Amino acid sequence: AKKPPPNSILTPNFKFADMGIGGLDEEFGAIFRRAFASRVFPPGLVEKLGIQHVKGILLYGPPGTGKTLMARQIGKMLNAREPKIVNGPEILNKFVGQSEENIRKLFADAEKEYKEKGDESGLHIIIFDELDAICKQRGSSQGGTGVGDSVVNQLLSKMDGVDQLNNILLIGMTNRLDMIDEALLRPGRLEVHMEISLPDEKGRLQILNIHTSKMRTNGVMDHDVDLAELAALTKNFSGAEIGGLVKSATSFAFNRHVKVGTMAGISEDVENIRVNRNDFLNALE
Ligand code: ATP
Repeated sequence: AKKPPPNSILTPNFKFADMGIGGLDEEFGAIFRRAFASRVFPPGLVEKLGIQHVKGILLYGPPGTGKTLMARQIGKMLNAREPKIVNGPEILNKFVGQSEENIRKLFADAEKEYKEKGDESGLHIIIFDELDAICKQRGSSQGGTGVGDSVVNQLLSKMDGVDQLNNILLIGMTNRLDMIDEALLRPGRLEVHMEISLPDEKGRLQILNIHTSKMRTNGVMDHDVDLAELAALTKNFSGAEIGGLVKSATSFAFNRHVKVGTMAGISEDVENIRVNRNDFLNALE
């Protein structure tokens, strides 16, 4: 049987937090059960059951909640090669007619490898960020260029073609589920949908832990910093905003330091920098 990759959900000591993602264990577990379990079935089981792998999923929810992070980690868990990441606006910004070509190219490597190796081929992950952008103009009467229409059609035809290719997984992402063309969401296409929402207090604590872990192990965070207190104070923060908070607290700590020394003293003084509770509270204001 194939050995699971070292950072795999199938290894006993697996922890989501070790992957640098906080507060999304449940979502991860659900996605795994609904979309990826068959990818790690023992050889032969998929044929025995007569099923097909899920070929596409859609992650949706507010910005900065870890969708991209999650998509990349899914790739690592499944031992896939480095994912190809594209975003909707980028594809559309190319010349009319070139957009379809861009979509075609996205799938080309995986198709080539599948032709050569069949089911022995590695898994290719294609991450489609801001998927809503290519859907905007489809069927809209607002005088769009019509590029969106044909790009979605091209994507649909590629996805339907993916049926024969077991080696592609498409991960779509959007902040605007309402904008996504329903045709993209049907079974056999982006068929598993998962909302990634803002973290709750427990999730925020996990995210704070992740983003301060270096500081803590290197002893540059003061003991007066209470992450649980900060988790309570950061209601409605996204993971990205929590990351930003940690960064700006370090700037406050640095500034505090610069004031007492001279610029010349900074290099030796750097040894003594500590990020304290006040730096975090200042950063929150
Ligand atoms: P967008 O919709 O804007 O593309 P996204 O949901 O894809 O946002 P990411 O790009 O994954 O968000 O997150 C941006 C950064 O914010 C990450 O690189 C990480 O530093 C931090 N972050 C966001 N969510 C989390 C999380 N759940 N755990 C840890 N860090 C997070």
